[in-house]
Amino acid sequence: MSQPSLVSRRVAADEDRFRDRCGLFGIFGHPEAARLTYLGLYALQHRGQESAGIVAAEGDRLRVEKGMGLVNDVFDERRIESLPGDRAMGHVRYSTAGDTVAANAQPILIECHRGPIALGHNGNLVNAAKLRTDLEAAGSIFQSTSDTEVILHLYARSHRDKLEDAIAASLSKVMGAFSLLFLTPQALVAARDPWGFRPLAIGKLEGAWIVASETCALDLIDAEYVRDVEPGELVVIDRDGLRSFRPFPPEPVRQCVFEHVYFARPDSLVFGRNVLSSRLLLGRQLAREAPADADIVVPVPDSGMGAALGYSQESGLPFQWGLIRNHYVGRTFIEPRQAIRSFGVKIKLNAVRSVLQGKRVVLIDDSIVRGTTSRKIVSMVREAGAREIHMRVSSPPTTGPCYYGIDTPTRAELIAATHGVEEIRQHIGADSLAYLSQEGLLAGVGDAEGNRFCTACFSGRYPVAVSNGDRWQLELFAEKSGVKA
Ligand code: SF4
Repeated sequence: MSQPSLVSRRVAADEDRFRDRCGLFGIFGHPEAARLTYLGLYALQHRGQESAGIVAAEGDRLRVEKGMGLVNDVFDERRIESLPGDRAMGHVRYSTAGDTVAANAQPILIECHRGPIALGHNGNLVNAAKLRTDLEAAGSIFQSTSDTEVILHLYARSHRDKLEDAIAASLSKVMGAFSLLFLTPQALVAARDPWGFRPLAIGKLEGAWIVASETCALDLIDAEYVRDVEPGELVVIDRDGLRSFRPFPPEPVRQCVFEHVYFARPDSLVFGRNVLSSRLLLGRQLAREAPADADIVVPVPDSGMGAALGYSQESGLPFQWGLIRNHYVGRTFIEPRQAIRSFGVKIKLNAVRSVLQGKRVVLIDDSIVRGTTSRKIVSMVREAGAREIHMRVSSPPTTGPCYYGIDTPTRAELIAATHGVEEIRQHIGADSLAYLSQEGLLAGVGDAEGNRFCTACFSGRYPVAVSNGDRWQLELFAEKSGVKA
């Protein structure tokens, strides 16, 4: 008998999602700085699973350990012990700009005439390619293909004396989304772009200052949340304490609404607001806007959980675990060549026949991206005996890609960019389909006036155009969004 040949591929259910790309954690003034950074990154693992790294400062020296894989794969006791000092910062990454290679793992550590400095970045710069071309023409040699390295080259070329002035001068040349942590032997510096696309929170633990992408990282180490790094703020933490600067011209705040819909952990405070409470409100709003004559409410785990609970509370329909997720699946798997229907989704999700049999089901998810995964999930629920499937989505149709630090397909691949709701319903095979309205989304995240959040991937209103004469980025922008920049 011949052996079945095996192929390895990515988990399909993960491919058909918007994905956040980075998490940051920094600490100043704690004897176990590297160890606490490791734990902080552990709490932020959902923000990036391709690489992890930590830089620690002792005396005048910075040391770095980083590699490809999950935090637990990259770090062991020996690596943590090799990072002494009471200041450290770390990064988890899933690439948005730059290739998926070890050279792009962060933090990026360089030596320049100012001394050593390390940088970790959450976000995406829209004019990095143009800046890089100019810098290379002027003699700069890059170690990676990451857009983040551009910031360090600009910093190294600055003639400003003070650290905060040199960093501010380099950041004044970049456009787009950045939540950043810099570490030098003397200071930890945090900065957030004027629109505030990506989150960054400040905490305290036993006199040590902490900066992290989400407050769940503070909770893990018993640190207290103090406040957010404000949009457009630059914060310097050194032996004199914490100092705040406002070096950038103000812009309308445009925080990423998708952090509340999907990316951030439900237990986190993001942009000063608990994420789970937003998701419950989105679900309640969805139930009011798109009621269904049904028997049970079933979430697509884990993404639809909060909204499904809210939908159930508002509608009075019972919440049921009709789909179970396997939490121990890696990013890739080996499958037999002999076809198993919807194998890629099944390896992560399985339907519970005893719950679904004969039921009219409201199936809740946070988004439909390409439609391929939703189609397989609907099919799985129907095969498990559901009589009717009413798909409800706790965000509006995603019609455009993101340029601000989220990994998204091109516009042509987004099913809602080219298909109406009825066509999508037919494609995924549901009995009915409804999305949350844009007004309902903003009401659910506490911004009914619509003046604090970016909604570009739903509305097409991009707060920062890809421009600045960056032809390559302009072409990419036009190709991906269909919007002339
Ligand atoms: S385009 Fe969408 S995913 Fe990107 S920052 Fe705006 S709301 Fe967030």
